[in-house]
Amino acid sequence: MALIVHKYGGTSMGSPQRIRNVAHRVAKWRKAGHQMVVVVSAMSGETNRLLALAKEVSPHPDPRELDVVATTGEQVSIGLLAMALKDLGVDAVSLTGWQVGVFTDNAYMKARIDTISQERIRRELDAGRVVIVAGFQGIDPDGNITTLGRGGSDTSAVAIAAALHADECLIFTDVDGVYTTDPRICSDAKRLPNITFEEMLELASAGSKVLQIRSVEFAGKFKVPCRVLSSLTDPDLPVEEEAVSGTLITYEEDPKMMEKALVTGIAASRSDAKVTLHDVSDTPGVASSILQPIADANIDVDMIVQNVSVQGKTDFTFTVPRGDLEKTVQVLKEQVLPKAGGEGIVTNDRIAKISVVGIGMRTHSGVASRMFKALSEEGINILMISTSEIKVSIVVDEKYTELAVRALHHAFGLENGPSEV
Ligand code: ADP
Ligand code: ASP
Ligand code: MG
Repeated sequence: MALIVHKYGGTSMGSPQRIRNVAHRVAKWRKAGHQMVVVVSAMSGETNRLLALAKEVSPHPDPRELDVVATTGEQVSIGLLAMALKDLGVDAVSLTGWQVGVFTDNAYMKARIDTISQERIRRELDAGRVVIVAGFQGIDPDGNITTLGRGGSDTSAVAIAAALHADECLIFTDVDGVYTTDPRICSDAKRLPNITFEEMLELASAGSKVLQIRSVEFAGKFKVPCRVLSSLTDPDLPVEEEAVSGTLITYEEDPKMMEKALVTGIAASRSDAKVTLHDVSDTPGVASSILQPIADANIDVDMIVQNVSVQGKTDFTFTVPRGDLEKTVQVLKEQVLPKAGGEGIVTNDRIAKISVVGIGMRTHSGVASRMFKALSEEGINILMISTSEIKVSIVVDEKYTELAVRALHHAFGLENGPSEV
C-alpha cells in the first residue's frame, strides 16, 4: 500500500460528468489498495468568474476579502467530489485548507506555504477515507484566509505530498504530460517522457502554466516524485498503465542527455508588463534606489535592462507581473521619481516573454544566436533579452507570441523531441 496524492485542475473538474470521472479514477486507485489524498481546483472558469464578480462590486477589491471570495470555487469542488465518491461506495471526506492546517504567510493573493499540519489528514486516512483537499488556499498566522497565486493548486498538492512523505504526486491535467512547448500553440509539440527538475523549474518560471513554479520549487526541495498526466483518458485505464504514463520529473541528471540535448522546451508568458524610466541620473546606487521600493511592495521584478548612459542620464527598463503594473507605477511615482529624477515612466502591458530552456546549454553555446536568427527571419523585433545557465528569454510584442514560439520550436527541431547538437 502506497500513499498517493492526486491533483485535478479546473478542466478535469469542469462539469458534473468530469467530476464523476475523477471520482471513478480516484476510486480505482483506492481499490488498488492505496491511501489517497486528492487535491482539487475550482471548476474551470470559476476562479475567473469570482475575481471578475469582485471587481464588478469593487473596482479595487480589498485583497483580504478577494481571497475570501476566490477560495469558494475550491470549496464547491471538494464537496462535489466527495459526494461523487460516496455514490461509488468509497468513503471520502472533503477538507478546506484551514481544516487541514495549510499555514501560509499573510501575502494575500500570492501567499507562500510555511507548514502543513499532518494530523487531520492522517486521522482521516487511518479511518480508511479518501481525503479531498481544496487546493489554492491556506490560512495565515492570524487565521485569515489566503490564496497561493493563480495555478496554486499544483503547489498545494506538491506541498501536501512533501509534508506527508507521499510515495508519489500525480498531477492530472487536460494534456497528457509536459510537451516541448504548449501543444495549444504548436500542434507538433512532442510529449517528454521525463524532464529534469531544473528544466521544469525554468519552464515554469518562464510561464509554462502546466505547473505553477512554486510547486516545482517544492518538488525540488523535498524531492517529491511527481508526474504530470492526463485526466481525460478512459477512467478505467488500468492503474499500472496509468502509473507510468505522462511525464516524470527526474532529479538525477543523465550525463548523456546533458551532453546531447541542447534544447528541451519553449515557454511563452503573456503575464508580464514592461516599465521604462526615462533619463534617470546614472549614478552609483540608481538601480537599487529604483528596485528596492518595488521589492518592498512585494512585487517581483524579472528582467532588467539599463541602457548606456548619455551625459549622465540613462533609461532603465524592467518587467513586473502584469497584475502588479498599477502598483508599480504608483510606487515609482511616489517613492522613486522624486529621488532618482527622470523624465517619466512609459509602460507596456502588451508584451510576451518567450524562453528557450535546455540543460545542454550549460555545455553548448550558440542557442541565443540561433534564436535571434529564427526571429529575425520572421521579422520579429526583440525588445529585451536575458539569459541564465539553462535558459534564454526574450521579450517581444504580444502579437508575435504564437509566431515566435512556432519559429523557435521549428528552429530547434523540437518536433522531433529535445534537440541534439
Ligand atoms: P490545470 O487546470 O489542470 O491546472 P492548466 O491550464 O493550469 O491546467 O495547465 C495545463 C495547460 O498548460 C495545458 O492545457 C497547456 O495548454 C498548457 N501548457 C503550457 N505549456 C505546456 C507544456 N510545455 N506542456 C504541456 N502543457 C503546457
Ligand atoms: N482555481 C485557481 C486558479 O484558477 C487555482 C488553480 O487552478 O490551481 O488559479
Ligand atoms: Mg494549473
